[in-house]
Amino acid sequence: MESKFSANERKKILQNLSSKEFDILIVGGGITGAGIALDAASRGLSVALVEKDDFASGTSSRSTKLVHGGLRYLEHLELGLVKEVGREREIVHKNASHIVLPEKMILPIIENGTLGEFTTSIALYVYDYLAGVKKEENRKMLTREETIEKEPLIDSPILKSGAQYYEYKTDDSRLTIEVLKKAAEYGSLAVNYTEVTDFIYENKKIKGAEVFDKINNEKIKITAKYIVNATGAWVDKMRTKDKSLKGKRLHHTKGIHIVIQKSKFNLKHAIYFDVGDKRMIFAIPRFNVVYIGTTDTTYTGNLDNPDITKEDVQYLLNAINKIAPTANLKIEDVDSGWSGLRPLIHEDGKDPSELSRKDEIFYSKTGLISIAGGKLTGYRMMSKKVVDIVRERFKEDYNKSIGKCITKGIKLSGGEFKFEYSLGALVEYADKKYDEAKQTGISIENFKNLFYRYGTNIDTVTENAYEFYNQSKDTEKSWLKSEILYCIENEMVTKLTDFFIRRTGMIFFSINEIKPILNFVADEMATLLKWSPEIKQENLENFNQEYLHAISFK
Ligand code: FAD
Repeated sequence: MESKFSANERKKILQNLSSKEFDILIVGGGITGAGIALDAASRGLSVALVEKDDFASGTSSRSTKLVHGGLRYLEHLELGLVKEVGREREIVHKNASHIVLPEKMILPIIENGTLGEFTTSIALYVYDYLAGVKKEENRKMLTREETIEKEPLIDSPILKSGAQYYEYKTDDSRLTIEVLKKAAEYGSLAVNYTEVTDFIYENKKIKGAEVFDKINNEKIKITAKYIVNATGAWVDKMRTKDKSLKGKRLHHTKGIHIVIQKSKFNLKHAIYFDVGDKRMIFAIPRFNVVYIGTTDTTYTGNLDNPDITKEDVQYLLNAINKIAPTANLKIEDVDSGWSGLRPLIHEDGKDPSELSRKDEIFYSKTGLISIAGGKLTGYRMMSKKVVDIVRERFKEDYNKSIGKCITKGIKLSGGEFKFEYSLGALVEYADKKYDEAKQTGISIENFKNLFYRYGTNIDTVTENAYEFYNQSKDTEKSWLKSEILYCIENEMVTKLTDFFIRRTGMIFFSINEIKPILNFVADEMATLLKWSPEIKQENLENFNQEYLHAISFK
């Protein structure tokens, strides 16, 4: 059976979307919309989801990529939030253990820093307690020598001592895709490149949306009992369309990240460090690179692709050079970057980094339910809140009972391991899968990258790679071809940028490896998606724009 989340099924999905009334229509295919789709579909509701660009193309592919307990919330004494997201990260890790992996963090304590030794020790203790952190992952205070021994690059004169604690690292856009794939298994219909241009009303109540399909340049109408606006940074634009933008509003803040090759900055451990202006930033090793972020500045520009300025980049470089002075990093050392927007709730007189990261739900008289703010980490709880509201409305409006939330126990696509999770068991499983794949000539390093991308779905990728390898005996092309096929048939890859940005993350973490394979990928996609030469050219140009954007500060 064809996957319901396949680019080849787009036409059929669009026909189905306009053929009946859904229980719920979700606008926005970031982590929030995806989570709501899974929650609602797994409670038995009929679900439609539309996304104006690619899934996760908004903030959900532009974060620091951590599923974290929110240590910074402690500073603002948001204890309830620390507890909620701290416990939540364990659930997200359990349900997607191929892409949400524990990461040891070093927190250097510096002269005149925001955090002193005593406050750090207490804060991390409270954090571990509230978040219910496993004993083996509890915080450990370190002397100056122990800190440098763990991370020699931070041997700075301002370093006093350090602390070690745990966070979880993830791939935000892949997490979004895995949620959507699971939602599709429960019957949700989601489609990318479909923009809500207007809402449809009946007796002043919102009943649907007019949607523009950007691939076929066609308009469709989707009707639903309830409409959820999960458009992140665009939430107020939708509230304006609904003429319900009153009271609280969004305050956008921009955060950028930069990527540096390990050959220039060979950081062994992730660090979370003091910038000196009361802000903290992360430097996180990943594959052959280290990424550093983030900034936090008020943003009022175009929401679609926020800029990465030289000043943003220099701010991060100054911070890293202060804590790791021997690195002496310069703009020329930076490979690429990305920039994302936090849809925060405006509070008069507060600086960007003081604004709460809490989520907020807005109700309009027309019935539109809007959700904004929050974190990637808390997506499941945010989704539960929204679907619980829909559940209440169903009872009131239709006297119909809807089930309770069951997503705590739902393994996401790719995370459906049969064994009891431990890091050791996961590594052993990955080794076993490599044994099954290695006759194609793939290196263990390349295979593991794919394994931690696709999890239990790796079997499909391996099977097709074997088939292609048996025909061509070309290892690299066989695996690439198999990955492209998998992403088209199971992850609705529709454009070249979807593959290079949100499915493989190559534009973020291995931008220099794209050029040699770009034409091959474009040719394969053109064949599989039956592109005309013009569409292929359009895709290449579109990719080139994104590529230039990622290096625009140079
Ligand atoms: P989005 O991902 O922006 O999704 C909204 C979607 O709606 C977009 O894809 C958009 O294209 C679509 N849309 C808009 N208008 C329309 C329309 N008319 N029709 C159809 N679709 C439409 N959280 C963490 O937990 N950990 C972190 O490490 C972390 N780091 C962060 C770092 C930065 C720099 C930033 C900015 C945020 C970070 N966050 C982090 C927060 C987290 O990334 C966001 O809370 C989350 O991604 C928001 O998801 P969303 O689905 O609400 O919004």
